[in-house]
Amino acid sequence: MTDSPNPTVILGGGFTGLFTAIHLVRQNYEKPIVLIDRNSRFTFQPLLYEFLTEEMTAEQVCPHYEKLLSGKEIKFVRDTVEAIDLPEKNLCLASGLTYTYDHLVLALGSIVNYFGVEGARENALTFRNQADALALREHLRDCLQRASMTEDAEKRRALLTVALGWSVGCGISRNPGGSAAPLVCDTRRRSARNSHRTAGTDGRNSRGRY
Ligand SMILES: Cc1cc2nc3c(=O)[nH]c(=O)nc-3n(C[C@H](O)[C@H](O)[C@H](O)COP(=O)(O)OP(=O)(O)OC[C@H]3O[C@@H](n4cnc5c(N)ncnc54)[C@H](O)[C@@H]3O)c2cc1C
Repeated sequence: MTDSPNPTVILGGGFTGLFTAIHLVRQNYEKPIVLIDRNSRFTFQPLLYEFLTEEMTAEQVCPHYEKLLSGKEIKFVRDTVEAIDLPEKNLCLASGLTYTYDHLVLALGSIVNYFGVEGARENALTFRNQADALALREHLRDCLQRASMTEDAEKRRALLTVALGWSVGCGISRNPGGSAAPLVCDTRRRSARNSHRTAGTDGRNSRGRY
């Protein structure tokens, strides 16, 4: 009787985890591969702006892992990693499921860092996944609608001012302020009268008038 080998378990299905799994399959990797993520959808983060502005759909920007991995020898498990026992080579998931692995890939990403910017944690909306983008879209629309209904210039100005905080220090990043503009512009054509203003925490300001 031959024992089936323990799998290689990849924790986290972001760019790092997902593409590691796909790369291994393409190399005809001999061990079973298990990819674990707490979400059912992958987020193509650089295209999240296009999802926010409805230029692209959820299926394009946040496809289901099942669809992405269809036909590939990768087992996807939707669950949250709770504990890892490195010496024993096993891990425990929130559902109670446990895995014993031969090799482990840790690709759990990062958490939001506010870098000590005062008020950011309490007041900012995060922008990392589909749920964040939907919440932000609703919030911007709500501000625009309220701005279009007030005669108070100061109030309108406050409602149409958007502060952006982002970091461009570690990669090729696109301008989120510019990308948010079409949403503001499009909604404005329908409802609001004033220009919007965006202010980035990296010191650059931009103003849009449509
Ligand atoms: C809006 C936006 C635009 C960007 N644009 C660019 C760009 O243009 N160019 C560029 O180079 N970079 C860009 N980035 C950065 C880039 O997307 C990230 O650096 C990259 O996605 C990080 O990948 P990762 O796999 O390390 O982490 P993540 O993508 O964070 O993946 C980690 C995964 O682990 C899962 N996970 C975490 N904890 C657990 C747990 N306990 N149990 C189960 N699953 C868990 C999460 O659900 C997630 O799917 C952008 C980022 C954002 C937010």
